[in-house]
Amino acid sequence: MTYRGRFAPSPTGLLHAGSLVAAVGSWLCARHAGGQWLVRMEDIDPPREVPGSAAAILAALPGFGLVPDAAVMHQSSRLAAYASAFEQLRRADLVFPCWCSRSDLASAGGIHRDGRCMARSDPQRAPAWRIRMAEETISFIDELQGPQQQRLRDGVGDFVIRRVEGFYSYQLACVVDDAWQGITQVVRGSDLLDSTPRQIWLQRCLGLPTPRYLHLPLVLDAEGRKLSKSERAQELDPRNPMPGLRRALRFLGLSPSETAVHPSELLDAALAHFEPHRLTQCSDHRAA
Ligand code: GLU
Repeated sequence: MTYRGRFAPSPTGLLHAGSLVAAVGSWLCARHAGGQWLVRMEDIDPPREVPGSAAAILAALPGFGLVPDAAVMHQSSRLAAYASAFEQLRRADLVFPCWCSRSDLASAGGIHRDGRCMARSDPQRAPAWRIRMAEETISFIDELQGPQQQRLRDGVGDFVIRRVEGFYSYQLACVVDDAWQGITQVVRGSDLLDSTPRQIWLQRCLGLPTPRYLHLPLVLDAEGRKLSKSERAQELDPRNPMPGLRRALRFLGLSPSETAVHPSELLDAALAHFEPHRLTQCSDHRAA
């Protein structure tokens, strides 16, 4: 099967050091495998979206030598596919409407695991929709972080598939699109390591294939917190890409060429010695 990898940013800010690591890591894995590298804009959460950031992220990537092999896919254009996956789950009686408030949830220890709503149904208010979680342990081998397992019912419980406002969840959209785009390996930051068992569960419920997974070390800020785009931390300058690109490569455990002048030269030099299993596994590196 042809290797297909992807970089899937959310438009919640400009490209920053953490997302560049995910972009470069996924690009290197795809090129190393002689496969394709796709970009998917995960723009299905309007309240969190920073206007203009989707376009800014996409405009910045080529400046770092990162050019996708196909047209960029926007999740905002895929709502019908998520609706039909949701219907499939509903027909199979795997989801239920839920009116629980934060305090209902808090009194249940923060995890919804009854398989049905704990509050009273309210025809005046739209419900969220949750997937009914079975007593199931999901195991998988992460190709960098090693064997992983999670007991879904105790760990995450009945998670939300469609929010009160009608937005489909990241987990659902990600699974539907990884399958639709034919992704064979997901390479992304370790902040999403604990989403993977939920995604594997959804793939099984929807009859979709499970790709391979490789979670990269997480870039932390100077205080040791996850670097998030919404914090506007560590924005990169696409007009001066080399320092940021060298930092990203070093962070991944590679020794960037000192002589390369252009981003694509730097990436190609890194690719020549690249071995996915020799990437830095987890890291205490600080971005600052
Ligand atoms: N859109 C997610 C983010 O920017 C990444 C999703 C993924 O790679 O599965 O954090």
